[in-house]
Amino acid sequence: MTNKATETGWKLDNSYARLPEKFFSKVELKPVSAPKLVKLNHSLAKSLGLNAEALQSEEGVAVFAGNEAPEGSLPIAQAYAGHQFGNFTMLGDGRALLFGEQITSQDERYDIQLKGSGRTPYSRGGDGRAALGPMLREYIISEAMHALGIPTTRSLAVVTTGESIVRETELPGAILTRVAASHLRVGTFQYGANWGTAEELRSLADYAIKRHYPHIEASEDRYLSLLQEVIERQAALIAKWQLVGFIHGVMNTDNMTISGETIDYGPCAFMDTYDPATVFSSIDLQGRYAYGNQPIIGGWNLARFAESLLPLLHEDEEQSVEIAQKAIEGYMGLYQSNWLAGMRAKLGLFNEEAEDEALIEELFRLMHKHRADYTNTFRVLTTGQLQGMDMCNTKEFDTWHKRWQERLDRQEGSKASSEQLMRDNNPAVIPRNHRVEEALEAAVERDDFSVMERLLAVLSDPYAYSPEQEEYAALPEPPDRPYRTYCGT
Ligand code: AMP
Ligand code: MG
Repeated sequence: MTNKATETGWKLDNSYARLPEKFFSKVELKPVSAPKLVKLNHSLAKSLGLNAEALQSEEGVAVFAGNEAPEGSLPIAQAYAGHQFGNFTMLGDGRALLFGEQITSQDERYDIQLKGSGRTPYSRGGDGRAALGPMLREYIISEAMHALGIPTTRSLAVVTTGESIVRETELPGAILTRVAASHLRVGTFQYGANWGTAEELRSLADYAIKRHYPHIEASEDRYLSLLQEVIERQAALIAKWQLVGFIHGVMNTDNMTISGETIDYGPCAFMDTYDPATVFSSIDLQGRYAYGNQPIIGGWNLARFAESLLPLLHEDEEQSVEIAQKAIEGYMGLYQSNWLAGMRAKLGLFNEEAEDEALIEELFRLMHKHRADYTNTFRVLTTGQLQGMDMCNTKEFDTWHKRWQERLDRQEGSKASSEQLMRDNNPAVIPRNHRVEEALEAAVERDDFSVMERLLAVLSDPYAYSPEQEEYAALPEPPDRPYRTYCGT
């Protein structure tokens, strides 16, 4: 059968749908009137074993629009729960559907999900749809994160639907095709623990292990190992966020993956001026998900994950709690050591000295005091072009700089290799808020996608330090603060 599906290269399995029925609902497709492909990720398509050309045909686009299911798919919405700003609630895919898992030629398995594909049994009052701006925003930022070397869900395509959706105003509707190692979340386990039987919870845990941590499958304490693995991945992930100044914005437990990928690009944004209290999200009034709080919230979410695993950790509840607590206690240390290792690399340090932490702390004190731009601080330390930055023209910075240079001189290894280490760890560009907004405005208001394409091009190799990137490192003039982000629902 050489039909279009085989031409496009879809090769889908539906392992998640073999879990107990409680974990999902089958959904009907909700066709849209006039789908138009506005962005396709060619290199991602290729790595998934898909044919980019065939994906752009009418049949190919019909899949991204949710008008047709690709061969081998079983469209479902996943059930999950979650703590949203600390409050526990039932959630689920209210505006998404999972087609299935694409199996690559390397035998890897990736969820193919449509976001904005219409109502599901979990939609509550929502329309199940998404607007073009937020879907392009997820595309830009998730692909930028990937290029930065940060584990993340990816974006394969964006289509406009030809239909408007009603928010504060009417907006063009769109659907994003999201690719993920899986969409298992802490909230999926919370759902299993609260609404499932012990056996159902166990099948979920076994599934997560098989899918993400197959090396612990045979382990006697495999559920404790699962907890530890997720703690390790999240500690590493959140350290990476901190190191590039990424603020997720809505670290609810339903937005924390079991795979350790960043997920759900709603009100996220990169910090410009260094300030641990930075919050962009319009709904985060208490600053729960402020930049400086992210590591602690990561620990809080992992504690919720541990709680949901309690029935599997030991038959005796008290012992379960003890086991879980011990594992959770390890999180902060893991986070710290990931962060410190990353910080040393950002400063070109190969080895460890006891005073490194104090050196780093002093730099952050100066950055905070002088309201220095986070990314550009490390950019100028890397290039040595300090003149343009106010902080660098102060006496106290001179003192710090001298101390740092002495520290660099004490280590073995050439100056050149130290500089290379810095270049590999300090992005020359990040998706600056005003640049992202400018790209979205051109696309949404004027149907001009060229601004976004140029932005995506400079973000695709953030460590290149290319001449084109210089323009994108510049701060907005005059500074358009305070920047606010929205959930995009
Ligand atoms: P999020 O803020 O994207 O993490 O979404 C939180 C919850 O709200 C999830 O259960 C979503 O599926 C649901 N949701 C968000 N937007 C919509 C929408 N437009 N229609 C239905 N459900 C939605
Ligand atoms: Mg979410």
